[in-house]
Formats: sequence, structure tokens, C-alpha cells
Amino acid sequence: MYEIDKIREDFPILSRTVYGKPLVYLDNGATTQKPRCVVETISEEYYSVNANVHRGVHFLSQQATNLHEASRETVRKFINARSTNEIIFTRGTTESINLVASSFVDSQMEEGDEVIVSVMEHHSNIVPWQLQASRKGIVLKIIPMNDRGELLLDEYEKLFSSRTRLVSVAHVSNVLGTINPVKQLIETAHSHGVPVLIDGAQSIPHMPVDVQQLDADFYVFSGHKVYGPTGVGVLYGKEEWLDKLPPYQGGGEMIQNVSFEKTTFNELPFKFEAGTPDYIGTTALAKALDYVSAIGMDQIAAYEHELTLYAMQRMKEIPGMRIFGEAEQKGGVISFLVGNIHHFDMGTLLDRLGIAVRTGHHCAEPLMRRLGIEGTVRASLGLYNTKEEIDLLVAGIERVSRMF
Ligand code: PLP
Repeated sequence: MYEIDKIREDFPILSRTVYGKPLVYLDNGATTQKPRCVVETISEEYYSVNANVHRGVHFLSQQATNLHEASRETVRKFINARSTNEIIFTRGTTESINLVASSFVDSQMEEGDEVIVSVMEHHSNIVPWQLQASRKGIVLKIIPMNDRGELLLDEYEKLFSSRTRLVSVAHVSNVLGTINPVKQLIETAHSHGVPVLIDGAQSIPHMPVDVQQLDADFYVFSGHKVYGPTGVGVLYGKEEWLDKLPPYQGGGEMIQNVSFEKTTFNELPFKFEAGTPDYIGTTALAKALDYVSAIGMDQIAAYEHELTLYAMQRMKEIPGMRIFGEAEQKGGVISFLVGNIHHFDMGTLLDRLGIAVRTGHHCAEPLMRRLGIEGTVRASLGLYNTKEEIDLLVAGIERVSRMF
């Protein structure tokens, strides 16, 4: 039983108004709203526990450390990693990918070696590799897609060569909503002896993820997209890989011994966590994961699937509607244009009706080029959205369309 009314009550912001209209928040792909328990966890820890972790013998420091490390265990359980050594706290998806790009390319790649990404990647899974490409002369290869927004698996297979060292792809596209067949992509890569990084920014909030079942070598996500706080994220890496990679940043916490002649590094996961971590953020992230787990990731996936089907069906009834991304396996991200109304105009006018959507290229300019457009309007769903809100969106789009 999915108790949507009760769930909505957990998110105070959902009952506010914008321009005198009830807020319809459909920008969950950019960031999600926070349940009361997550916000309260932050203030409670600041009010009653705050102390730096891993450093103090005093009571508060130990308590803060226990909370921080318990959060690591919560994340481990949430994605079914084998060990907490495999859970690295970062600032988010972007930092997690940059960490792997830097440490992996540094230690595992030579000039001319290749990384495979897909045409539908977010800039944060393109630019870190390009930075390495310009530094070390590595080569990016791109998995193409069909017009429905599905990756071409035959073409993917053909991209592998003796120089392929890593595949890095999104689990779910933040523009098209395509749920990529990552298990299959990983199997193919592994059959060529190549490890895979999965960008889980848009999957973690919407479906159960089991990194062992997927056999992902790296899996990354952001706390703020899964109803947690901003500024904290996760890099999951198989221990055997993380052991091979050099540290990303230097500083406190990540060392064992330092002298001016030689420094030895701390063990996993601390080797990759230089400096004071966002220990309040990690506790709040764990709270968010507990929150969605209590609802049930399967239940969330089923509810959002039904909502997506409803939204797709209703939106297609709108004259002049063009939807980008019609993959068979599609999550609740709906990018669209209507007639020749500019996406920015549509977004701005919907906003006046209290409807928050995103407009633009969604940090996926290569994908926009593939689609032959400059940008879209994007409605992205979360666990608290309703069919009534979809109806308001549809009515809003129709109203804006009539103005043009
Ligand atoms: N990857 C995908 C697929 C995303 O949608 C996003 C954010 O929208 C990111 C990566 C970057 O996430 P963050 O800005 O939280 O690091």
C-alpha cells in the first residue's frame, strides 16, 4: 500500500505556494526535496553531537565517528556492497567520477588507451575523461543510440579493442529517462576484461540497486538526488580495484605516516577521504536511505512507473507534443518540446503556474546535438508526485500552448 498522502506530509516544502499557486515540483532530476526526518537529523547532530570524526578520544568525537561509520554501513546495505571498505564518501556523483577518472587513468592507462562512454552521458561523465584525455592522451569512444533513446548494443560491442581500459555509462539518462541495460553492458565489458563505472545519479532514487548482482566495478551517486542533503555522495568500488588505485587528494585522514621523505597511505576506505568529511551530511544521507527503504525501493519503482506511463499517455494527447526518449525501459524523466515554443518560454510560463520544471540542455550537450535540438523542457518525477500533479502539468502546457 503506497500511502502517497502520508508521504507528501513528510515533505513540508510540498505544501508551499509559488506565485500564489500550489507548488508542483517536477524537477527531481536536478535535486529532490527533503523529508522532515532528514532535515531534523542535520539540526539534531549539530545541536547535540557535533565533533570532528576519527580524531578525538573525547565522547562527542567518538559518537560522531560512530554515526559517520554507521552511515557507511547503511550505504553498504542499501546497494548491497560486500564491505564498508568499498564505500567512499565524496561530495557527489561528479566528484566520484573525477576521483575514478584521475586515479584510474593515472595508474591503469597509457597514451592511446580507450574509455567507452555513451552519447547520452551527463557532462560529469564526459568532461572528467576529456581532462584526462588532454593530460594523458587517452581516447574516448562513444556508444550511439537509436531515435527512441536506446543504446545500440551491437555498436557497443564493436567499440572494444585491445586498448579499451574502462567503460563508464549512466544507469538512467537524465534527459531521456532511458534505463540502460547495465547488467548486460557490464557482462559484455567483462567478457573483454574491461571494468565498468556506472553513473547511478538518476537510478539510485528510483529503483533497487544491487552492485554485486550487477557486478559493477564502480557505482556512483549523489545524496541530494535521493532525498538526502547536498554536498555528499558515494563512490562504490570493488575492493580489488580501489586497492589498485592511488589516492585522489592528499591531506589529513588519508595517511598512515607522514615524513618529509615518505608518506604511507591509510587503508580503505580512508585512503580516498582526505580532510574532514561531511560527517553531518553522511548521517543525513543514511537517514534518507532509511526513509526510502522504509517505503520500499520496489514500491517506489512501481509507483513511479505507473506515474510515468500516465504522464506519457496524457502528454502525448497534447497537440504538437514531441517527447524525447521513448525507450521501452524508461524512468520518470520526460523531456519535451511543443510546436515551436522555445523550451525557456515554456518553462518560464509553467513556473508562473507554480509548476517547477527544468529547461535547457540538461548538462548533456552532445546528446542535444544527437537529437538535433538546443534544449528541452524536462519534467522529472519523484516518489511524492501524483497523477493530479501530472494533470496540472498537462493543463499548464495546454494553456501555454494556446498563448502562442
Ligand atoms: N550524472 C547524471 C546522470 C546526472 O543527472 C547528474 C546530475 O544531474 C550528475 C551526474 C551530476 O550530479 P552532481 O551534480 O550531484 O554531482
